[in-house]
Amino acid sequence: MHKIPDINLEAHHIAALKTYFTERHASLLTLIRALVEIESPSGDAEASHKLALFLSHAAREIDADVKVELIEIPHVGTHLCLRFFDDGANNKATLLLGHTDTVHPRGTLDARPVRETAGKLYAPGVFDMKANCALALEAIQALVELNIKPPRSVNVLLTCDEETGSATGRALVEREAARAAQVLVLEPSANGKVKTARKGTGTWTVRAEGIAAHAGLNPQAGASAILEIARQIERLHQINHASPHDTSQKKLSGIHLNAGTVSGGTRSNVIAASAETEVDARFATMDEARQVENIFASLKPFDERVKLSIEGSINRPPLERTKDVVLLYQHARRFASGIGFTLDETSVGGASDGNFVSAMNVPVLDGLGINGDGAHAAHEHIVLDDITPRATLVASLIATL
Ligand SMILES: [Zn+2]
Repeated sequence: MHKIPDINLEAHHIAALKTYFTERHASLLTLIRALVEIESPSGDAEASHKLALFLSHAAREIDADVKVELIEIPHVGTHLCLRFFDDGANNKATLLLGHTDTVHPRGTLDARPVRETAGKLYAPGVFDMKANCALALEAIQALVELNIKPPRSVNVLLTCDEETGSATGRALVEREAARAAQVLVLEPSANGKVKTARKGTGTWTVRAEGIAAHAGLNPQAGASAILEIARQIERLHQINHASPHDTSQKKLSGIHLNAGTVSGGTRSNVIAASAETEVDARFATMDEARQVENIFASLKPFDERVKLSIEGSINRPPLERTKDVVLLYQHARRFASGIGFTLDETSVGGASDGNFVSAMNVPVLDGLGINGDGAHAAHEHIVLDDITPRATLVASLIATL
């Protein structure tokens, strides 16, 4: 099991961090606004590059040595990797992990401009997770300015394709996680709670090839691919009821399958020769992941005249609540109470890049971002009062892990 060093941050350091972030509130907000104003939907390579460049300039403004690596992927975007407090030794680092892409297409900002009201800052992509990209830089800057030296080097990886499954970011996440003693994932919190378990995800396409026939003249000669797909969907969804679901705070279990798209057929008077459905799969443990693989590998047609073909795989493995995850969480909880708030934990069905880290057995704590709500939705916002305590927490974790 991973051992957490017995470094304590003195009360005066925590107080100094709180004061620092309170005084920096306006400039941190300015940085957050600047980040959301560069709209960066996944796949918009130009916008992504602009944002990564902006962040690398902001990182260079911190009064510390920083190594900047921009990884440009044509037609995808630009990943950004920053290295601070590098002591030259090959010791493992603390990795801060996040992403710069959002689900909001360009132009969303025109329809829903940045708006501050009732202690909340509304903006597309602010909660998930541009405010937290700003938070990562601010936490490092605070330690530099207050002369608090972290026990290890601190790397920041901000990928650009997380929202679409990290097809190109995954290898980088794994590269950096392999160099890390622990990974702090700055994804949004859930009502202020960190995420100590996340389900894994996968996508499968089930295709049916039937036999076309005239629906009026000789329907018996046909084998409907649509009927076959409908029956398969029914069968797959029944698994959701059979699987023991537990979403309590400390435990996560249960397979969930969702046929999210369906298509097929040509005309109403033709028995459909082809149809397909795309199925999203969620699972809480590697055991369940293997069950899901088996379910799809062993699908048999109801109508033997129909040919089924199945394509798909696991995308993100589950983030399981291991002993290491719990240790990190307890460490963070202790600091939070010193800062003046209660840090609770929860488990969620959605996956993040933290899932890849977990699969490598590197200790990970996810959902450390600023409190708010409305990820991927029109009411996306952060809670302004939460910035100082959350930034103090992240800085304290960097300083002690
Ligand atoms: Zn996110």
